[in-house]
Amino acid sequence: MSRVPITVMGFRCERCDHEWIPRGGLEDEPRVCPKCRSPWWNKPKKVMMPYEDFRDRIVRTLKEAGRPLTWTEARTIAGLHQAFPNNQWVHRLEKDVGLHRQRESGGVIHWQLKTSAAGDLFESTPPEVADQGGAPSRRKQGAVE
Ligand SMILES: [Zn+2]
Repeated sequence: MSRVPITVMGFRCERCDHEWIPRGGLEDEPRVCPKCRSPWWNKPKKVMMPYEDFRDRIVRTLKEAGRPLTWTEARTIAGLHQAFPNNQWVHRLEKDVGLHRQRESGGVIHWQLKTSAAGDLFESTPPEVADQGGAPSRRKQGAVE
């Protein structure tokens, strides 16, 4: 006789960790946890969005857009609540995922990812060579002829 674990799908309450098997099947999401009666049993406790979440959403949004976006466009598509980007996080994005902010002549700032392989979040990109003094014009990044 062989013994195998049989897995039954159920729910777990995010508040009290109670686990249960629903009587009516998984399609019917319970409104409250049967133990602690919390209606937020399905909502994680954390209130603040962690940086990692912010980073992943921005990366996904910029990749899917396939073009530079303004902060307003990016935050609308990504569903972020912040009216303004958190400066510290923006600097971390520049380091972590190669975020590049391009200020256009009209003062509009466009966000884009320098590398197409933004999936490699932990690949360290060497800093660009600083402007040589007196260089007539900057080469445009990523321009393809
Ligand atoms: Zn509960």
